[in-house]
Amino acid sequence: MKPRSSAKRAPSARPSVTVAAARPVSKNKSGAKKAKYPDIRRDLERQRAAILDEVGEVLTNRPDLETFPDVSDQASAEVDQNFSMRIRERERKLLKKIDEALDRMDADIYGICARCGGDIPYKRLKARPVTTLCIECKTLEEQNERVRS
Ligand SMILES: [Zn+2]
Repeated sequence: MKPRSSAKRAPSARPSVTVAAARPVSKNKSGAKKAKYPDIRRDLERQRAAILDEVGEVLTNRPDLETFPDVSDQASAEVDQNFSMRIRERERKLLKKIDEALDRMDADIYGICARCGGDIPYKRLKARPVTTLCIECKTLEEQNERVRS
């Protein structure tokens, strides 16, 4: 007869999840995912994991400045830190390229030259999986860069 609980919380108060924040996981409802370059995807994913591994190691092995009370030791620790930061910057860029390549695979536009729209030969993709340009366009771009600088 008595209401069991006086909880006034709205039962439908669910945390509003921002859908856009979640990276679209490639949904393979059909099951038959027509992966065009399964081995290159594997290469990319392996490379990605290796970089993340390496970056994690650099971060955890970073010398703790407090353990170097001597000034010169601290200075060399800072040099080490700058070095690992440079590595991380380079890895970060490569990681971004890998992610973009994987995104292009998901979007089914991987292996298409970003400039001329032609197919990038498999051999080139295999050798340089993060590339976005065919050899002709890459060469042109490099020539342009040389002219500009
Ligand atoms: Zn091209």
